[in-house]
Amino acid sequence: APAASSAITPSNGAPEFDIDRVRRDFPILQREVHGKPLVYLDTAASAQRPQAVIDAVSNFYREHNANVHRGVHLLSQEATDAYEDARRVLARWIHAESEREIVFTRGTTESVNLVAQSFVRPRVGPGDQIVITHMEHHSNIVPWQMVCEQTGAELVVAPIDERGELILDRLEALLGPQVKILALVHTSNALGTVNPVQEICAMANRHGIPVLVDGAQAMPHGRVNVQELDCDFLCLSGHKMYGPTGIGALWARQQWLEDMPPYQGGGEMIRTVTFDKTEYNDVPAKFEAGTPNIAGGVGLGAAVRYLDSLGMEAIAAHEHEVLEYGTERLLAVEGLRIIGTARNKAGVLSFTIEGVHPHDLGTLIDHYGVALRTGHHCAMPVMQFFGVPATARASLGLYNTKHEIDILADALERTVQMLR
Ligand code: PLP
Repeated sequence: APAASSAITPSNGAPEFDIDRVRRDFPILQREVHGKPLVYLDTAASAQRPQAVIDAVSNFYREHNANVHRGVHLLSQEATDAYEDARRVLARWIHAESEREIVFTRGTTESVNLVAQSFVRPRVGPGDQIVITHMEHHSNIVPWQMVCEQTGAELVVAPIDERGELILDRLEALLGPQVKILALVHTSNALGTVNPVQEICAMANRHGIPVLVDGAQAMPHGRVNVQELDCDFLCLSGHKMYGPTGIGALWARQQWLEDMPPYQGGGEMIRTVTFDKTEYNDVPAKFEAGTPNIAGGVGLGAAVRYLDSLGMEAIAAHEHEVLEYGTERLLAVEGLRIIGTARNKAGVLSFTIEGVHPHDLGTLIDHYGVALRTGHHCAMPVMQFFGVPATARASLGLYNTKHEIDILADALERTVQMLR
């Protein structure tokens, strides 16, 4: 069928992106807030879940619930199959070489901490450096500060420019044999900047430096292929990509996982235990101590299948159109400044309005049914760089429409008039 303005025909043969049908997949979008239809523009904080994910989780609890990897009974086998199937689905989705390269975690935060403590901490000492960037989320700053405190290594920060883009030659100038890891965000939650991660990995690889990619915000907006990126670690969160909270993953090259000591001890991660000596399990079980978030894993698998059914190219094209429209509409609001004007952006419109505190703005806008986030977005150094204490942030998901942008822009205009 020919592509209409709201329907995109993706190149990968996936079905047409029909925004009305897609919105019907998300039951929560039917609800009202303060008597107005919900306009959910806080997907970067946590996405809404499609019925397919809700059904996968509830079906698991209704039909298959049991602990995994332990029982010989049928339910335990079914639960194990469902959980391990999710691992395979995710592995294929990001083009891992094998599902053994997927460690389930609570999310991006736990994945970064795992790499910091298990991979980097034993490898660094005084004189060594860990390089991050100025646009990182706190979860890709604080774990590295902790390693530096523990080891005497130094944290080095690659600068950004006024657009909110990395300055690549300044980044490259920081790289050398003293750098033991480069940890950077793929897509910034505070600015929307999409970093040229493939190019940066190639740059780091020339210096023999492993790269950790914080993929929390990249996963919902486009295809992420770890082979193409040629990174060493990828961290992701289920709830940012339309799956459940409390589940996420670390992808790492199997050889690194084999070399790394376990992060936590307990059940599941062992092969044999005596009081004299414990033999650890194979990867990835070695990193999954204790009973995992089984239903969460199943829900994450369902989220990946859902995204795949829509097609990431189609999602990206739709969101790009809404982002462009949103940029235009917001810039027409008097006194509004967009923070983060990178040439390659995804999903985020961060802004301030002269003379209006972002928090007041967020509270008043809520009464129009519009869910925005205001604050530092867990990226205080980004706020400091742009000289603002906070911003208001409208963040887009695959279900947002230009009509919702109109509702936001009208609400902003009315609120500004009221506050002035
Ligand atoms: N990295 C980025 C870019 C994020 O946006 C977030 C969440 O906001 C995180 C990391 C942390 O993710 P989580 O809280 O799911 O661990």
